[in-house]
Amino acid sequence: PSERKKRPDWLRVKLPAGPEFRKVRQLVDNYKLHTICESGSCPNMGECWGAGTATFMILGNVCTRSCSFCAVATGRPNEYDADEPRRVAEAIKLMQVKHAVLTSVNRDELKDRGAEIWYQTVRLVKENTPETTIETLIPDVKNNWDALVRMIEAGQEVVSHNMETVERLYRAVRPQAKYARSLEQIKRTKEFGKRTKSGIMLGLGETRDEVYKAMDDLAANGLDILTLGQYLQPTKMHHEVIEWVTPEMFEDYKEEGLKRGLKYVESGPLVRSSYHAERHVNVPI
Ligand code: SF4
Ligand code: SF4
Repeated sequence: PSERKKRPDWLRVKLPAGPEFRKVRQLVDNYKLHTICESGSCPNMGECWGAGTATFMILGNVCTRSCSFCAVATGRPNEYDADEPRRVAEAIKLMQVKHAVLTSVNRDELKDRGAEIWYQTVRLVKENTPETTIETLIPDVKNNWDALVRMIEAGQEVVSHNMETVERLYRAVRPQAKYARSLEQIKRTKEFGKRTKSGIMLGLGETRDEVYKAMDDLAANGLDILTLGQYLQPTKMHHEVIEWVTPEMFEDYKEEGLKRGLKYVESGPLVRSSYHAERHVNVPI
């Protein structure tokens, strides 16, 4: 049986439909934009798109990395599109998005890691629709700390960078990333003065103690908000689901995270890093 058939009940969700969903989909197509909602086959598309919210992926849809959980294509990306910031900002205005989540592929081949496009996109959204709050889910800048500053200095409210998994599984899950380097990126983001956020997927074979260790490390490096959700396998070629984490276990993790010094924990089977993201602008930290 396929992974989808084996999914426990709490992961069965309605397929996206309805007029709002169609409107968003059309805009995304017309503006030649990419959304992580689609490329990640996110189970919340019905809910988020139905409410007029989507996560935009900038800097193209080909990534220089090959994380084993991720459905985005790996390869050498084309030249980046300097007009993209304008189109994203316009689409956000037309869609009347109250809270926009922006993310990107990794562009390791670019000297500035794509930081200028990041900066321009946030700036143009703020210029076009000053009332729209923004979360930027940024990639690993691979020790290019100038690029990090450029990516986060345009006035966004929340800056996230996902750890994705526990330290031991990095080689299998995020082979081109380093656990300590991602922690440092979060620490520097906090020192710069931003509200910090990160996400970990569960069900990849991690142990409880390893998740606790990650929580301790994140708290020690200045993380404010953590999201925990069930990993789902996008295709058979991707990392297997090792475990279906129960809703009760997600509750336990939430309590544990708060005890360990995180300020806010969003934890549940369907939680994605951009799920309920609009709340994360204002939760007390
Ligand atoms: Fe898109 Fe995030 Fe909502 Fe999933 S949770 S549909 S990725 S905005
Ligand atoms: Fe996917 Fe991001 Fe990894 Fe690229 S860096 S493969 S987009 S998770």
